[in-house]
Amino acid sequence: MSMFVDQARIRIEAGRGGDGAVSFHREKFVAAGGPDGGDGGKGGDVVFVADDHDSSLIAFRYQRKYIAENGQPGAAKRCTGKSAPDLVIKVPRGTVIREAKSGRVLADISDDEPVVLAKGGKGGKGNQHFATSTRQVPRFAKPGYDGEKYDLVLELKLLADVGLVGFPNVGKSTLISVVSAAKPKIANYHFTTLEPVLGVVRMDAERSFVMADIPGLIEGAAGGAGLGHDFLRHVERCRLIVHVLDCAGSEGRDPIDDFEKINLELRNFSEDLSRCPQIVAANKSDLADEEQIERLRQYIEDKGLPFFVISAAAVQGVQPLLNKVYEVLQTLPPVKRFEPEAAPMPTEEDAKRFTVTVEDGVYVVDAPFMEPIMRTVNPDDWSSLQYFERVLRSSGIIDALEQAGVQEGDTVALNGFEFDYVD
Ligand code: GDP
Ligand code: MG
Repeated sequence: MSMFVDQARIRIEAGRGGDGAVSFHREKFVAAGGPDGGDGGKGGDVVFVADDHDSSLIAFRYQRKYIAENGQPGAAKRCTGKSAPDLVIKVPRGTVIREAKSGRVLADISDDEPVVLAKGGKGGKGNQHFATSTRQVPRFAKPGYDGEKYDLVLELKLLADVGLVGFPNVGKSTLISVVSAAKPKIANYHFTTLEPVLGVVRMDAERSFVMADIPGLIEGAAGGAGLGHDFLRHVERCRLIVHVLDCAGSEGRDPIDDFEKINLELRNFSEDLSRCPQIVAANKSDLADEEQIERLRQYIEDKGLPFFVISAAAVQGVQPLLNKVYEVLQTLPPVKRFEPEAAPMPTEEDAKRFTVTVEDGVYVVDAPFMEPIMRTVNPDDWSSLQYFERVLRSSGIIDALEQAGVQEGDTVALNGFEFDYVD
């Protein structure tokens, strides 16, 4: 049995920008030229695109990490490092991408437009940019910027106008197979449909809509008791539900009871889903008597829902149902798209957060944002150290050290890198 996978967790990391280069122009007979270190290249983006050949997220169970390449460092002679290619990830159309941590929607891959989910870091500037009248020999360059990184939850939510829901064996797969070219498995036992199936229903040359056969819902599905729970998220986007009932009660259940149970499942899954317009198809009418049909009709029509008596297997009463479905669709908004939700704005303090603690007389500073800067500091070079000190001042680290009581000659350990404090 193939497993249908419609949810996955992955990690994506865009590439880091390449570091800027420190280099000086060299020519025969010219003792020392100006700075000519080139900029680093941009890190690769992580990009998602819709793929119509795949209808499951199973590939993401096998590969969970997607890491784009880093940009190349800059080089002498103002050479800019090569930017890294984008890492393109194909997902089935209809995949909704959320940030795992916050649960917020980042993208809905339903259209053909590729979506950049994690941006690659910019390259650092080479020392060619840092010569000034007072600093003619800049022996430092800017490090590349980090790429964006996310833990993601991918969820497949099919794009269909109409979702068929109902207990197993009521005839959903039979119905879609007679109204569209879709050929799901049809069998007289429960859960033959393990993957949702999409079918295009063509009314005529101009008019069509997409129908989804959702595997049977069972009692307790919304609570995760059965298969149903996973599949309910496929109905989430549907504009209209066709609720299929076995009006003959051919499996010993009461169709009214079935109707209420399924609606309870929909309600438990989401309020939105329970408000989705419904049309009821009373199937297997060839097995039902007049009394059974009329009792059900009364019940459904009392609820104000359109009621159609059909036999999917005998292809009877199907056309009036489709006409009604098409008519109602014209009055409904288009298939739901999930809008990206904005990230909470990181404050300036968040970005430059650090801690100062004193351990055995050593002033320990933990400042993650300093990491990339420290990668390119040249401790033997005066102008590089000056730049480093400027960052320590502007970020407030020096103030915090002084508040903690640091004195001339004390040891400071910044992200594990030790130096003596000089006032
Ligand atoms: P699903 O589980 O809801 O997809 O149900 P299926 O379409 O797989 O049908 C279950 C069984 O009911 C199959 O044996 C079908 O042939 C049968 N069936 C479907 N529609 C009708 C119908 O209108 N009349 C009769 N007598 N049997 C039907
Ligand atoms: Mg089926």
